[in-house]
Amino acid sequence: MTWPPSTTDIPLPATTTSAAETLALGRRLATTLAPGDIVALYGDLGAGKTHLVKGVCEGFGVPGTSVTSPTFTLVNEYAGVDFPIYHFDAYRIERMEEFFELGYEDYFFGDGVCLIEWPEHIEPLLPEHTLRLRLAHLGGDERQIAHF
Ligand code: ADP
Ligand code: MG
Repeated sequence: MTWPPSTTDIPLPATTTSAAETLALGRRLATTLAPGDIVALYGDLGAGKTHLVKGVCEGFGVPGTSVTSPTFTLVNEYAGVDFPIYHFDAYRIERMEEFFELGYEDYFFGDGVCLIEWPEHIEPLLPEHTLRLRLAHLGGDERQIAHF
């Protein structure tokens, strides 16, 4: 997939200087996404992955306040205006089987947009069309978000 689509103006790589700016970037990111898309968010703890997810969700009409890291549940589902958003956090995955038991294929090849934190823990399961973004903590409140 060529991403971002040439019809959109997503300024990546981007440096944000506040959590609010990362939310705003997420809202813009949402305008480039459609059901079936999978976004893998790489980056250390505190890099801003969950904030970017909040912004994307807001772009789809989900209140950011209802978006929390599904660290213990593996996946949260939010009702967007037109389709669901599936928010994964693979941080605590120890065996790939846990993801199979979750029925991940119904989500990945389903009717919504998937956003995945700690995708490196399930790397072999990521479909070919996965969009990969890396978030890096540059110091203070600066975060870099890049497509790779
Ligand atoms: P992750 O999911 O990658 O662990 P979170 O989004 O949960 O990261 O947390 C990021 C933390 O960093 C939050 O406490 C947030 O307020 C803070 N923060 C500071 N500057 C930024 C920024 N530019 N973008 C995103 N979060 C920021
Ligand atoms: Mg997180």
